Amino acid sequence: MSHYIDVIIPLPLERLFAYRVTAAEADFLRPGMRVAVPFGKSKIYTAIVHHLHQSPPLNYEVKDIELIVDEQPTVTLDQIKFWEWIASYYVCSVGQVMRAALPKSLMLESETIILKNADTDINEDELDDKQFLIMEALHHRPALKIKEVMEILDRKSVLPILKKMLELEWIILQEEVYSTYKPKTVKYISLNSRYKDEEHLKNLLDDMTRAPKQRDTVMTLFMLQTGNKLVTTKLLQDRAAVSRAVIKALIDKNIFIEEEQTVDRVLDHKEQGRDLFELQPAQQFALNEIREQFATGNTTLLHGVTSSGKTEIYVRLIQEQLELGNQVLYLLPEIALTTQLISRLKHYFKHQVLVYHSRYNLNERLEVWNHVIENKQPYVIIGARSALLLPFQNVKLIIVDEEHETSFKQFDPDPRYHARDAAVVLGHMKKADVLLGSATPSLESYYNTTIGKYGLVELKERYGKVLMPEIQIIDVKDKHKRKKMKGHFSDSLIEQMQEAFKNNNQVILFQNRRGYAPILECNTCGNAPQCPNCDVSLTFHQYKKQLRCHYCGYHTVVPLECPSCSSTSLDTKGFGTQQIEEEFKEIFPDFKIARMDLDTTRGKNSIAKIIEQIDTGEVHCLVGTQMLTKGLDFRNVSLVGVLSADSMLNFPDFRAHERCFHLLTQVSGRAGRTAERGKVLIQSYNPDHQILQQVSIYDYSGMFKDQLEDRYQFKYPPYQRLIRLTFKNRDYNKTLQAGQWFVNALNQIEHGVEVLGPEFPAVARIRNLYQVHVMVKMGKQHHPNTIKDYIRKVKRSFESIKGFNSVRCNIDVDCY
Ligand code: ADP
Ligand code: ZN
Ligand code: ZN
Repeated sequence: MSHYIDVIIPLPLERLFAYRVTAAEADFLRPGMRVAVPFGKSKIYTAIVHHLHQSPPLNYEVKDIELIVDEQPTVTLDQIKFWEWIASYYVCSVGQVMRAALPKSLMLESETIILKNADTDINEDELDDKQFLIMEALHHRPALKIKEVMEILDRKSVLPILKKMLELEWIILQEEVYSTYKPKTVKYISLNSRYKDEEHLKNLLDDMTRAPKQRDTVMTLFMLQTGNKLVTTKLLQDRAAVSRAVIKALIDKNIFIEEEQTVDRVLDHKEQGRDLFELQPAQQFALNEIREQFATGNTTLLHGVTSSGKTEIYVRLIQEQLELGNQVLYLLPEIALTTQLISRLKHYFKHQVLVYHSRYNLNERLEVWNHVIENKQPYVIIGARSALLLPFQNVKLIIVDEEHETSFKQFDPDPRYHARDAAVVLGHMKKADVLLGSATPSLESYYNTTIGKYGLVELKERYGKVLMPEIQIIDVKDKHKRKKMKGHFSDSLIEQMQEAFKNNNQVILFQNRRGYAPILECNTCGNAPQCPNCDVSLTFHQYKKQLRCHYCGYHTVVPLECPSCSSTSLDTKGFGTQQIEEEFKEIFPDFKIARMDLDTTRGKNSIAKIIEQIDTGEVHCLVGTQMLTKGLDFRNVSLVGVLSADSMLNFPDFRAHERCFHLLTQVSGRAGRTAERGKVLIQSYNPDHQILQQVSIYDYSGMFKDQLEDRYQFKYPPYQRLIRLTFKNRDYNKTLQAGQWFVNALNQIEHGVEVLGPEFPAVARIRNLYQVHVMVKMGKQHHPNTIKDYIRKVKRSFESIKGFNSVRCNIDVDCY
């Protein structure tokens, strides 16, 4: 009898592939383990065992596996089930989900590039022959592909050798070079929780009479720990005046537990020693309601105004689960994963907090993966959308904070999943409670509460009963007419800023555009320099005196004359954060300003630094793009100024108005979070616009009703489902033809399903590729799976057409 395994290969393949294994291997292997398999002519991939069986595949010649990588499964069965759901719902392959889920270091393959780790000194005597050959090759060449290693060693099975060398940190994978950011780490020490019990502690101390130094050290730590404080090993060493050896001995005896933690350089010190807050009555009430909803098995939406203390409610729920020994997942938009929040949670949950963050390097991500699957103690995992793909064991609570944020959706590449929606599904699979939280819920989630699909809990007052900031709309057109504008600042805004500075308060300025001025325009012929690779105008960046493309990163020096008519009269149009920064410096020469946008936050730690400058009062004003809106909690900001609300209102997207409401409400929420009532000034050319009026009186339900009506009228979600197909190619005509072919082929789809397009989007060419969209719209009466199957089928035919070989086709389900 022969044995086979079906495996998931991290490629866009619609099915699993079978490989032959020996009886002994079959005995050892379990689903979820990694194996290395040959695929195609000479490629090696890391694959995941899906299941074992005894029937040979019929239509292809079966190969042997290369190697078993794991001793224990790397992936859980539930995870595979969840991946399959994602692949099926979002119309992609399970292998693509696998690629998104596994940290790269778990996925060695022939194209993986390895480098010598310059940070380790290697003693040549430690190397065996094969290791020596590899290190020798890396001495002469900067990098090696794994397939080159195979050639050098003249053997196929090189992964076990490389695995060992990676563990020893002699070599690193190429990706890691880009993440040189190593969070600073500190060793924390604590008494094994067994000795929290006085009886046990007393016995322990009695037992230790013959090791007085150790005994003293235990006592010292016990004292230092009171009030649940975090104690660093260094502090203990200093206080107990003992050597590392004494502490080490206690660790070895399992009396002390030492853990290395990344320190949040910024705020940790301030948060230290804070005890769990007592909840305000409104918070307590909301917490009880959430529990009631959970008891009925409902996914629940917590709609709590900004600064109402939602996080403190989450903390209670997390604490409960950790005490029950369960795992908790806390999802946040990437950018909101700031040290502010992390240190807040670490204060409460210490080393039970794991952070899964793209800014952390591969090893750290791998570590989190291992902690989660080993599940030796209950953890709360904080992370951005990809944290959803971790190997959870007994996750019983999933929190999706700032659930309205669009960054929960992955737009490129596959799987194009929405982490909030997928979290709800994971919650069902794992029987975990799911809590969505926001001050400005997405229309979809709020709609779900109105039809009874989700529970709704509202928290309408701010913590400490601080009033919501007063929002005032400033008519910029009128101000211009009356010559009351200085650059982009109205006299009212300047006055209010002066007032704030006088009272030692800080100001936040919001301009949803980075750069100096978006474009440079010729006054003579109207020509604006374009990106050579994309169909967009280049953006003017004052600081570097550059024109830059925000799509592909192309940049060039600012021309002295118009490239088209040679006129020297060039002017900037529109304005961005940089220009506001410049103008601020002129109007307020005595005050300091910091800027927060994509340009200033590229460095790994730069966000943290800016936050620190605000927290310490080093700067008086912060100007930024929508990054500012993401859950930052500043104590001293009394005024928020929105320089121009108009570009947000005029954006060509069915969600533009909803988003504008979210953005303005969230940014307003940064004002007056303590004691004094904050103030918000919104400058606009359309002061009477419905959305601005709704923002100014916090009329979420008015906005909800209006927008929902529009969605109904124009057939958009939540009433209709949208699937968008995108075709990309260097050739304009071919791209369009491909789109047209697909539209024709889809025409026989179910009656009542609309197929729109092909259509060029607003930016029709990016990085030299033309794009064409085809939109499939269906009502609730249609069965989405049938439609998706049909689209898959058409895509297969499409891919077999020679002429469209070079046209890429992406499918994006719920593309909004
Ligand atoms: P949200 O997440 O709703 O915007 P936060 O949870 O950040 O609000 O709370 C806003 C501020 O109020 C935070 O600084 C928080 O520490 C404080 N706060 C919230 N609840 C309490 C409480 N019960 N006792 C003391 N301070 C609280
Ligand atoms: Zn010109
Ligand atoms: Zn470009």
